[in-house]
Amino acid sequence: MSARILVVDDIEANVKLLEARLTAEYYEVLTASDGPTALALAASEKPDIVLLDVMMPGMDGFEVCRRLKEDPITRHIPVVLVTALDGRADRITGLEAGADEFLTKPIDDVMLFARVRSLTRLKQVLDELRAREASGRRIGVIAGAAARLGGTGGRVLVLDDNERQAQRLMAELSIEHRPVAETDPEKAYMTARGPLDLIVVNATSRGFDGLRFAANIRSDEATRHLPILAIVDPDERHRLVKALEIGVNDILTKPIDPQEMAARARTQIRRKRYTDFLRDNLDHSLELAVTDQLTGLHNRRYMEGQLGALVKRAALGGDPVSALMIDIDHFKKINDNFGHDIGDEVLREFAVRLASNVRAIDLPCRYGGEEFTVIMPGARLQDAERVAERIRLHVAGSPFRVSGGELLTVTISIGVSSTSGEGDTPELLLKRADEAVYEAKAAGRNRVIARAA
Ligand code: GH3
Ligand code: MG
Ligand code: MG
Repeated sequence: MSARILVVDDIEANVKLLEARLTAEYYEVLTASDGPTALALAASEKPDIVLLDVMMPGMDGFEVCRRLKEDPITRHIPVVLVTALDGRADRITGLEAGADEFLTKPIDDVMLFARVRSLTRLKQVLDELRAREASGRRIGVIAGAAARLGGTGGRVLVLDDNERQAQRLMAELSIEHRPVAETDPEKAYMTARGPLDLIVVNATSRGFDGLRFAANIRSDEATRHLPILAIVDPDERHRLVKALEIGVNDILTKPIDPQEMAARARTQIRRKRYTDFLRDNLDHSLELAVTDQLTGLHNRRYMEGQLGALVKRAALGGDPVSALMIDIDHFKKINDNFGHDIGDEVLREFAVRLASNVRAIDLPCRYGGEEFTVIMPGARLQDAERVAERIRLHVAGSPFRVSGGELLTVTISIGVSSTSGEGDTPELLLKRADEAVYEAKAAGRNRVIARAA
C-alpha cells in the first residue's frame, strides 16, 4: 500500500534522510523546508500524509498543523508531528492543534513505517467514503459539518485486569467522557457490541491477551469500526508493532501520562464521529440519489441503471425484459380543479396501488411528473400485458380518497413493450412502450396497449 508523503523540515539533512528511507519503501515523497511552502504544497498536491517538524523558524509545526486542519481542502490529511524526544508538552500542544500522530527524534524506522501504514489505512477509509458521494458536490458541506463534531462526552470502555490502574484511567477519563471499566475480555465483548465510541485496552494485562482482544474487535462486523487505544510497554517493541499491524488506532506507552491519554482519546473519538457522520450521510445521500422523494419509488436514474444491465443480458440471449410505461389520464385537470397538493396525494396513492400490484422482482419507478414505469425482469409481452391490465383495474376500479374527503376517479393509460433480442437497447424498449401509451391515449385513454417489436 503506497502513499504520497509530504516531508516538512527546515534542516535539509533531515529532509534528505527521511526522503531516502521513505523512497526506499516505495513511498512517493514531496518536500518543503518551511511552513508556508508546506501549506501551499498540501493544498495543491493533496498528499496522503504530512510528516511535520515542530521546530521551524517563522511558522512552527503547530501553526502549520492548525492551519492544515482549519482548511477544508487539507483538513482530512493526517499529520504526523516530529517532536524532540522529551517533548511531552509538545505532544499535548500538537494534539490540541489537531495532529494525528507523533514521532520523536531521532526517528525510529519501525515506528515510522508502522505509523505511516496505519495512517494510510485511515486515509483510505476516508477517501473511499468520500468517493461514494456520486456528485462530490455535497461532500464539502457534509465534511464541514462533520469536522465540527467534538471529541468529548464519549462512551469509553476500559479493559484492564489491573484494577488499580483501571481506576486511575477511569478517574482521568471521567473528566471528559463516560467511561466503563471491565476486567474480563468476555464481558468487554458484550459491552463493545452496545453503543460505544472508544476502547482503551491494556495490552500488558497478565490475565488475558490484549492484542488478541483487539484483533477480535477488528474482525467482528459489529465492532470493526470502533477505535482502539492500546496501552503497551515501550520496551516490547515487537508487540508495539504488532498492535499497529492488527489495526489498533493509537498507542499509549507506559508510564501513562493522563493528559496525553485524554488528548489521544479525544482525537480518536472525534475521528470516529467524523467517519460515522460521513458514513451515515453518504448512505443517506446514496438513497436520495436513487429514490423519488414524493412517492418513495425508485427514480428514473436508478431505473435506467438497472434496465441497462437487464436489456444487455436479454440481447445476448438471456431472459427477456418487459417494460410498462404508465401515464395518468388528464392529470392536469386534477391539479387545476383541486390544487397541486391534492395532485401530489393522488400521485402517492397511485404509487401505492402500483407497487402492490406488481411482482416482487418487478421494479416500479417514477419516471417523472405523472409518468411511471415498471421494469419486469423475465416477463414476456403477454405476461406484462396481464400485469398492466391488473394495475389499470386497481386504479380505475375504486376512487382515490383525498384530503377533505373528496373521492376522485383516476384512470391511466399503459403502453407495454418487451425486449426483441439481439440489437435491442433500453432506449428502444422504452420508446416502444411510450408509443403504445400515445396509441392508448388516442384510442380514448384508460386502456392497455402492447407493442410487439
Ligand atoms: P393526458 O391524459 O394526455 O396525459 O393529460 P395530462 O393532463 O395527464 O397530461 P399533461 O402532460 O398535459 O399534464 C401533466 C401534468 O402533471 C402537468 C404537471 O403540472 C403535472 N405534474 C407533474 N409533476 C407533478 C407533481 O409532482 N405534482 C403534481 N401535483 N402535479 C404534477
Ligand atoms: Mg404526461
Ligand atoms: Mg397524463
